Amino acid sequence: MNAQVKTDVVLIGAGIMSATLGTLLKEVAPETSITVFEQLNDVAKESSHELNNAGTGHAALCELNYTAEQADGSVDIKRAININEKFKLSLQLWSYLVKQGRIEKPEEFIQQLPHMSFVQGEKDVQFLKKRYEAMVQHPLFKNMEYSEDREVLAQWFPLMMENRAANTPIAATKVDTGTDINFGELTRKLFKHLQNEQVNIHCNHQVKAFQKTAEGWALTVVNKLTGETFVHHAKFVFIGGGGGSLPLLQKTGIPESHSIGGFPVSGIFLACKNPEIANQHFAKVYGKAALGAPPMSVPHLDTRFVDGKRTLLFGPFAGFTPKFLKSGSIFDLPTSVRPHNLTTMLAASKKNMDLTKYLLEQVKLTKEQRMDELRQFYPNAKSEDWELIEAGQRVQIIKDTPTEKGSLQFGTEVISAADGSVAALLGASPGASTSVQVMLEVLQKCFTDKIPNLDEKLQEMIPSLGKNLAEHPEMLDHIQRGVRESLGLKVLW
Ligand SMILES: Cc1cc2nc3c(=O)[nH]c(=O)nc-3n(C[C@H](O)[C@H](O)[C@H](O)COP(=O)(O)OP(=O)(O)OC[C@H]3O[C@@H](n4cnc5c(N)ncnc54)[C@H](O)[C@@H]3O)c2cc1C
Repeated sequence: MNAQVKTDVVLIGAGIMSATLGTLLKEVAPETSITVFEQLNDVAKESSHELNNAGTGHAALCELNYTAEQADGSVDIKRAININEKFKLSLQLWSYLVKQGRIEKPEEFIQQLPHMSFVQGEKDVQFLKKRYEAMVQHPLFKNMEYSEDREVLAQWFPLMMENRAANTPIAATKVDTGTDINFGELTRKLFKHLQNEQVNIHCNHQVKAFQKTAEGWALTVVNKLTGETFVHHAKFVFIGGGGGSLPLLQKTGIPESHSIGGFPVSGIFLACKNPEIANQHFAKVYGKAALGAPPMSVPHLDTRFVDGKRTLLFGPFAGFTPKFLKSGSIFDLPTSVRPHNLTTMLAASKKNMDLTKYLLEQVKLTKEQRMDELRQFYPNAKSEDWELIEAGQRVQIIKDTPTEKGSLQFGTEVISAADGSVAALLGASPGASTSVQVMLEVLQKCFTDKIPNLDEKLQEMIPSLGKNLAEHPEMLDHIQRGVRESLGLKVLW
């Protein structure tokens, strides 16, 4: 141990979550000293990297898994409303940061792109129609369009209509105000801003151990380039390790970390960089997940804007590896099983044999079998135009709920110590799109008693905070216009 250092806050991991929390903290309490430790050689290299995720600004404009069909045939849109409201918090913060000059050139991280849902077969067409009828009446989704007309659909997604069988009923919905987001670029911009605010960002530094102190935490950190180990003290620690958050949370030993486990799901995309093809598709088109597939592997054919170029991405195909991070180890899953979560993990593994089997089968798919799935969307797709790329890892939460032992969850959850000295983010869905709402939750859980007038300060940046925008149509309109103007998105209202 050759150095002792101290800051008010340590952020572990340099992904979108730490970047967002650091940015919020510097706005509401600029005097806060912050250090970031990232084990890789740069920021935004794991799930937040642009090619490790799908870059969808999840606003529930196209994702069919956010709206459930009920036993009586009606479609419940509550979850879609909730996700849309959360995404609007993100848009407001990003817009504020651009207006204040904290980050520049929003076009480098956000682009307007129509969001569409696409279904085939009579049963799914009926579902989509009912879903559309339920959604279009709501102020948040009033711009949604629906069509079964093949000529209209050929205008919406020409590539997908070429050589399509005429005898299967098809339908789609479209919302023009969707977005594609380069979360890697956004993360890099936020960290650049934080560096200007005197935040120390140490890449190649891995946090190894936690020791509780009277003031907060003593972290054992290793410099991966020199092999040196040192202790860093902080009053508050945020564990933003992405898939790697669970093992770190377990190392804190806090009671809230008990009986929690993780289940990793990997992803593979098919990518097409051929401009002749990429330039014929301008949308994110989400389909329905296959039977037995986890909700985050809903197939979609997306236009992506990466490094100023248009590419197409299809997938993600889910798969299984025991690693918790793309750069992780095959021992991540086995070593995460501890005496306190053993029964939880066993209960979950018994109940989810079908999912494990499905994921293992997915891993074995050949490129040609994956191309066949793509051809459900784009019948003329040719193998030579597409390459397989490995996406990031998502670690799903396994926990005991009041009604279920070992419940596998597909959302995100903030776990924090009772004294507010440490918080961790587990899970990865809806993910980076709702990073602002999730980090606001961390602030509200751990800083309300430490930062005077926290809510008022946050509301200056995010006017709709604490309000349901759908119930305030004038505010909704005003905020949407302001946000879209400052982020350089086409205003459509
Ligand atoms: C296939 C796929 C598709 C997705 N699609 C979307 C999408 O379309 N829209 C969306 O909004 N979200 C999407 N997501 C989710 C989104 O990518 C994640 O929610 C988000 O990037 C997580 O950010 P993070 O900061 O928590 O983690 P990460 O970006 O993974 O960052 C965590 C960092 O912590 C570091 N770290 C871990 N352990 C340590 C340690 N001990 N010491 C130091 N550093 C450490 C890691 O190296 C890493 O850099 C997708 C994810 C995947 C995998």
